[in-house]
Amino acid sequence: MRLIMLGPPGAGKGTQAALVSAAHGVPAISTGDIFRANIKNETPLGLQVKEITASGGYVPDEITNAIVRDRLAQEDAAHGFLLDGYPRTTGQVAALDEMLAEAGHALDAVVELTVDTDEVVGRLLARAVEQGRADDTEEVIRERMRLYAEETAPLAAVYRERGLLHRVDGMGSVEEVTGRIEQVLGRVRDAASATDA
Ligand code: ADP
Repeated sequence: MRLIMLGPPGAGKGTQAALVSAAHGVPAISTGDIFRANIKNETPLGLQVKEITASGGYVPDEITNAIVRDRLAQEDAAHGFLLDGYPRTTGQVAALDEMLAEAGHALDAVVELTVDTDEVVGRLLARAVEQGRADDTEEVIRERMRLYAEETAPLAAVYRERGLLHRVDGMGSVEEVTGRIEQVLGRVRDAASATDA
């Protein structure tokens, strides 16, 4: 399965991506995690993106697209993947389309996790305390939410037009949300096998 997990900062994408990835045997690929690992290890990439991510901005498309291209070329992603936090801009959508076309692959579904904003800010502030993430101050959280609304939320419409978008209520317990996602993926799978038959 080739999936995208879409949703605002704090919607629980990372948590759900890990669970879905384990259940379906496909790697969860998080651009945010890749950037954080590089920042931690002080690699050239990490030094390049450290300030941008700390201020809540988006890393330039050329950098992000190149990283995803490399990651998707790795063997474990050959038969499927779950993208968490990518694409985030229309430029990234176009780049991903190109990567998939080159490989002769297609997306199976885009799962959009929906949450209410107040709840999300609360979750992010709690996570800031737990994980000490540099980009989880209230000001930076607000900037990330603004950028999401402006740049990333519109991607849902792009995928809806392609018939790929599935909106899932992201409120409730982790298990409840996972259950909803699995229902969606079950339907996607049934629809795909009906077409194949
Ligand atoms: P969030 O909790 O906002 O979903 P992520 O862990 O996905 O955060 O990403 C953290 C930061 O890494 C983002 O705020 C951004 O600076 C950078 N980043 C991650 N993915 C992308 C992307 N696809 N394009 C540009 N910047 C990105």
